[in-house]
Amino acid sequence: MLAYTYMEKGRFQLTEKPEPVLQDAHDAIVRVTLASICTSDLHIKHGSVPRAVPGITVGHEMVGVVEQTGTAVTRVRPGDRVTVNVETFCGECFFCRHGYVNNCTDPDGGWALGCRIDGGQARYVRVPHADQGLDRIPDGVTDEQALFTGDILATGFWAARISDIKPEDTVLIIGAGPTGLCTLACVRLKRPKRIIVCEKSDERTDFVRRHYPGALTVRPEECKDFVRTHSDHGGADVVLEVAGADDTFRLAWECARPNATVTIVALYDHPQLLPLPDMYGKNLTFKTGGVDGCDCAEILRLIEKGEIDTTPLITHRFPLERIDEAYRLFEERRDGVIKVAVEP
Ligand SMILES: [Zn+2]
Ligand SMILES: [Zn+2]
Repeated sequence: MLAYTYMEKGRFQLTEKPEPVLQDAHDAIVRVTLASICTSDLHIKHGSVPRAVPGITVGHEMVGVVEQTGTAVTRVRPGDRVTVNVETFCGECFFCRHGYVNNCTDPDGGWALGCRIDGGQARYVRVPHADQGLDRIPDGVTDEQALFTGDILATGFWAARISDIKPEDTVLIIGAGPTGLCTLACVRLKRPKRIIVCEKSDERTDFVRRHYPGALTVRPEECKDFVRTHSDHGGADVVLEVAGADDTFRLAWECARPNATVTIVALYDHPQLLPLPDMYGKNLTFKTGGVDGCDCAEILRLIEKGEIDTTPLITHRFPLERIDEAYRLFEERRDGVIKVAVEP
């Protein structure tokens, strides 16, 4: 089968590989029906994910149909349409039992698919701990609707969940890239009084205005003043930092009111400064980390009910054979691209 492969730093290539086989009783083989490209794939390509193993098939955002299951798999059966979770987790260790699946202590735990083991920019993928990693897609939900459930939508959902958003809050979201937009979709479910989206690209700001009317938008330069004017207590009650740019961490806590919650969703390329003397007395609560992707079943129910719709994020489609082109478009952010769907 064709598989998009991490050859070496700076180079991915479509290569021919044998189809995956079951290696463990908890594995499932999934035929990928739709995949996507994530910014984390680009991080692997550029060598900024040291644990990524050269030779692996990349891709960790996909949906498909279960082809085969190991003898210990009980929650899914061949023929089931499923979303695949970016995280592999055992479901049994201390962290898994507490919902902190990102910190699963199993040797296979964490971001394995498309990083340490073969992922889903291919026709088939082997999913370890399939009972945890796969969720059945409801009949009325299309592949396009479900595509982001296991990764960026799970991230947005988790970020909104841990941010303790209340109805009277003004919530600031910094960054309207794909994960920022998923975060926006999930923050809306909490129905806060105001949502402000800070984004530097006009194209993405227009996207927010078109698809999420009601959210206020602002450019980074005007953000601090705008938030002060458009909030009730001199700053945002909750800030979600999804941009991960050079100065957005500082912007995040500067826009927060005293005693606010600042949730860091972004993955930074460089260390960030926590200037404690400057923020003394502001009594902020910072929440940081990587997604605990354990809410996929609930996300799928919300999609089914029409409360979350991320299909507008799919701006482009390519067959797997043309995935090189898809990567170029995504990486260079050409042609208004938000997300690319890849059809194996
Ligand atoms: Zn990702
Ligand atoms: Zn675990």
